[in-house]
Amino acid sequence: MHRAIALYSGGLDSLLSILIIKEQKIEVIALKFLTGFVSPLKEQDIVYSQKFGFSIEEIDIRKKFFSVLQNPKHGYGKNLNPCIDCKILMLREAKELMSEYNASFIVTGEIVSQRPMSQKREQILHIEKESSLKGLIVRPLSGKLLSATKPELDGIIDREMLYDLWGRGRKRQFLLAQKYGIEKIPQPSGGCLLTDPLFCKKVKDLIIYNELTIENVELLKIGRHFRLSEKCKAIVGRDAQENEILLNRQRGFFIYPADFKGPVILLSGEYSEEEIDKAGSICLYYSKNKNVPMVIKNNGEEEKKFFNIISEEEIVKYRI
Ligand code: SF4
Repeated sequence: MHRAIALYSGGLDSLLSILIIKEQKIEVIALKFLTGFVSPLKEQDIVYSQKFGFSIEEIDIRKKFFSVLQNPKHGYGKNLNPCIDCKILMLREAKELMSEYNASFIVTGEIVSQRPMSQKREQILHIEKESSLKGLIVRPLSGKLLSATKPELDGIIDREMLYDLWGRGRKRQFLLAQKYGIEKIPQPSGGCLLTDPLFCKKVKDLIIYNELTIENVELLKIGRHFRLSEKCKAIVGRDAQENEILLNRQRGFFIYPADFKGPVILLSGEYSEEEIDKAGSICLYYSKNKNVPMVIKNNGEEEKKFFNIISEEEIVKYRI
């Protein structure tokens, strides 16, 4: 039996592409590439893989992706999404895995002209060339609109069973979902945080201050973020759950109200008394009781201190 690797985003298009290829009696291994900005595999992904009979794995490319994100050769999309370079990176990684998985080609859920940055016909071809996979990427949803690939020419894939989808419409995908018995329709794409303008402000701050690390990117997903100095940030929990996540970290410098009626603040980076004062005054701003001392906890040692509340103007100045 022939085997293919599929780039799996968790969206409907990548799932349909896998099913179209499987229909041709080809075994599919779906790979979800973790960039740090897309969600890991969810329960629903596992349900699909079991229901439709394909294997599924996560591949962590965060470190490589971060260097692409800091300086993308082909630039950013509407926000901080470096889609062309991201796709090239994923395809190169998939190519590296082809011999390990004994796969003879790669499948993607791309649709010609669906997205402005990376799915125009000429961009699709450019990405294919840059990833050194000419003729080895099959796009089942738009295959009939593109030149025949090697697996088609070799008779592994019947071109007549591919589709000619084009543009942003979703109607034909929904009909295909019905045909294959996909009851719960996944989102069109995997939900990349780099397309969210507010989240991108925080990512940009990390890039500017050269702090783009796995740990710092994970921290962006919780709390309000404040840049207190070139080397220091404060992360403020927004609810009990976030406060607990912050406080449960093994190490860190924490500030929180002694009566617990307010946020936990985590100071990250390098800080002096000045930054500790700023963080304490921010903590008081978000605390219910304005006359309460703050607990300062550092490496297990605790002390209590009163702070002055920060003004509205100042808090706006520090907010990322
Ligand atoms: S939206 Fe995000 S995950 Fe998708 S190609 Fe662009 S950068 Fe990569």
